[in-house]
Amino acid sequence: MKSTGNHAIVIGGSLGGLFTGIMLRSIGWEVDIYERSAHTLDSRGGGIVLQPDVIEAFGRAGVTYEAPLGVVAQERYYLNPDGSIAQRMPMRQTLTSWNLLYSSMRRHFPAEHYHQGKLLTNIQHNGEQVMAIFADGTRQIGDLLIGADGPNSTVRQLFVPDAHYQYAGYVAYRGLVNEAELEPDAAALFTERFVFYQFPNSHILQYVIPGENESLVPGKRRFNWVWYVNYDQATELPRILTDKEGRRRDYAIPPGMIAPAVEEEMRVYANRVLAPPFLDLSPV
Ligand SMILES: Cc1cc2nc3c(=O)[nH]c(=O)nc-3n(C[C@H](O)[C@H](O)[C@H](O)COP(=O)(O)OP(=O)(O)OC[C@H]3O[C@@H](n4cnc5c(N)ncnc54)[C@H](O)[C@@H]3O)c2cc1C
Repeated sequence: MKSTGNHAIVIGGSLGGLFTGIMLRSIGWEVDIYERSAHTLDSRGGGIVLQPDVIEAFGRAGVTYEAPLGVVAQERYYLNPDGSIAQRMPMRQTLTSWNLLYSSMRRHFPAEHYHQGKLLTNIQHNGEQVMAIFADGTRQIGDLLIGADGPNSTVRQLFVPDAHYQYAGYVAYRGLVNEAELEPDAAALFTERFVFYQFPNSHILQYVIPGENESLVPGKRRFNWVWYVNYDQATELPRILTDKEGRRRDYAIPPGMIAPAVEEEMRVYANRVLAPPFLDLSPV
């Protein structure tokens, strides 16, 4: 694509920033991405359902991939409380991982234009251009600035200071289990299927995703589970979002940091309500 001579500054180097970056480059823009984290982001991703617009965006941007972009599930199962199958529904879907999408785009986006350890702190208009100001004192000028800096966006705070995200009413617990480590009966039920178990105020689901190093080889992939639990915002959520060091988190707790009392409460709850195959999957 011939260069338009236009230059975009993208704040945030996760999925949103990379998608924006590869799409703008595909129409001839020069793009620099600025990510506050000094480390590669690819170590803690779980599962993501691969939606058609991702494939379309990859196609338009010329992102190439040798293997399929994920694991194909042919059907959905809904379970009864005893673990038997209540309903089967044919539904072909590709399930992928956050890591695979992130890594595919990182490989496609020029490394010299992806800048890590760059925390945006302010933005100034500069005539027809925009200036990004970073915590390390550096400044960058561009024709367009895109805020792809996530739920606590600095860009949004600068332009729409009164906008705040709202609690949706539920918390999602999630985890990964290596394919080879799951009990065989549960593994046979879950493999290459999207499986759900619904019960009052909650549901849990699982699907298989690529494993370490984006592996799609049977036996080397991972079971990805997500357990949605409704909590009252005023009386329950603050306790759930306080990590094991007593720090109140905004909206997510990193792996290994859930408070022991909350973890124990989830074990008791799991033993009380989960259908058997899901008990094998979640660490209870
Ligand atoms: C490491 C990681 C793993 C994730 N794994 C999953 C997953 O497995 N499944 C899932 O469904 N969702 C996952 N998410 C959550 C998130 O919902 C998805 O990435 C989603 O697609 C949203 O992408 P996003 O780019 O809009 O925002 P985010 O993924 O939240 O990315 C925002 C980025 O902006 C950066 N940033 C924030 N403020 C600044 C600033 N002032 N200056 C510069 N950079 C800034 C952040 O460091 C971050 O990298 C993950 C997020 C991260 C960061």
